[in-house]
Amino acid sequence: MLNIVIFGAPGSGKGTQSARIVEKYGINHISTGDVLRAEIKKGTELGQIAKSYIDQGQLLPDELIINILASTLDSFKDSKGVIFDGFPRTIAQAEALKAMLAERGQQVSIMLDLDVPEDELMTRLIKRGQESGRADDNEETIKKRLVVYHSQTSPLIDWYKNEGQYQHINGLGTMEGIFAEIAEAIDKI
Ligand code: ADP
Repeated sequence: MLNIVIFGAPGSGKGTQSARIVEKYGINHISTGDVLRAEIKKGTELGQIAKSYIDQGQLLPDELIINILASTLDSFKDSKGVIFDGFPRTIAQAEALKAMLAERGQQVSIMLDLDVPEDELMTRLIKRGQESGRADDNEETIKKRLVVYHSQTSPLIDWYKNEGQYQHINGLGTMEGIFAEIAEAIDKI
């Protein structure tokens, strides 16, 4: 089983690289952001709750997002592995993921940290907001998301180093160049 955590600040390219990983390695993909945006689109109760946090650039409560992740994971049958995109985002979520995988006799194979300088993140997200119209890709919300990333999410770097699963990836360059570095790291597992 190939269980990959793709990690990085908003705008670091997690979604783009996840699609390539899925294509090359044939594993399932869970993007918590995509799941939440689909719920918002469907107008469900969960969608309404999610929207109130996302519009503020805040994280959803751990318990809620952990339950969503667990049910998505259970829906995969005969899986060769999973790429976790946008989860975990807090230490509590990382501990929950470790426990969930352990219950299934599995563990995280590698955590890929897509490292991109802050000014580049800002430029990419503003451009994405203009092109896609994603409501949280506006300057004010992006700034809040980056603050949340630094305070709540970036401590996971040391957490995964401690687990022996951390892999730094230079997130600046061409999409192909970045993917080559990722594939090299995965192939070494
Ligand atoms: P980005 O990485 O660009 O911030 P995502 O699509 O991964 O985009 O997430 C969008 C928003 O969805 C986050 O700002 C947050 O509000 C919510 N969200 C996504 N994943 C999680 C998570 N694991 N825990 C809490 N909130 C989450």
